[in-house]
Amino acid sequence: MVRTGPVPRSPRDAAYPSLAAVERAVVDCVRCPRLVAHCRSVARGKKREFRDQEYWGRPVPGFGHNRARLLVVGLAPAAHGGNRTGRMFTGDSSGDWLYEALHRFGFASRPASVARDDGQRLLDCYISAAARCAPPGNRPTREELASCRPYLEAEIRLLRRVRVVVALGRVAYEGWLKAAGWWSALPARDRPPFRHGVEARLPDGTILLCSFHPSRRNTNTGTLTRPMWHAVFRRARAILESGRAAPRDRLRRGSRDPAASRRTGRRSPPTPRRPPPGPGGRRRAAGAADSAEG
Ligand code: SF4
Repeated sequence: MVRTGPVPRSPRDAAYPSLAAVERAVVDCVRCPRLVAHCRSVARGKKREFRDQEYWGRPVPGFGHNRARLLVVGLAPAAHGGNRTGRMFTGDSSGDWLYEALHRFGFASRPASVARDDGQRLLDCYISAAARCAPPGNRPTREELASCRPYLEAEIRLLRRVRVVVALGRVAYEGWLKAAGWWSALPARDRPPFRHGVEARLPDGTILLCSFHPSRRNTNTGTLTRPMWHAVFRRARAILESGRAAPRDRLRRGSRDPAASRRTGRRSPPTPRRPPPGPGGRRRAAGAADSAEG
């Protein structure tokens, strides 16, 4: 279920006045010919174990509650996961990890997500991704990520209650920072770094939690363990329950309000509600060594 969004303030906002509008645009999107062709090809070829199923084979829209306070951002749908089922992180091993954790910490109604009609509901949570089409080799190009970014930008604008963002992997981390405007608003030295377990408070009070992606590569090798993974969502729950994350500035991105422009302008970083205690805000290691993203 989606709501009507805020009053459009720019032509781009007018194009996506609600989460339903974003969803419609995503599902019909053909901006990236390489990815569109790949999704369709995978859907035609299928995997042996799913040969009797009809694949979605299209861009996958965001999934979740329109008043969510937790936003989870992934990389892109998996070829035989989201690209098969049509729902984010649904029907693959990454999704098994994600929904188990979301359910454990009260953000999902069920511990597994297997199909769009399985009755799964997200509670106070919304799942999105840096790219909405399954990319070959799980590697969208920079151009494809840029083409897809307006959808995440629109979701960030429409999900006005979000207080905590969990970025799953470096691509998701960078994608969210760019879509939210912080990549250009903050000098590079003040951007939070990407490492598993990093916790950073952005100047508008949003808390960013970084995690390795729960890909098979990371979970099978022990790069990401269950305790490391659960620590991220336990922390998200604790932050939301403590109220530590401040309400976001209502006029932030896309606003014509001059003060907001000053907060988000490239030359003038956003004014912190409270000064962060160090570059990139407060950081907290949650138990993993720094390494490549998942
Ligand atoms: S990746 Fe995004 S922009 Fe590219 S075709 Fe898919 S939905 Fe459209």
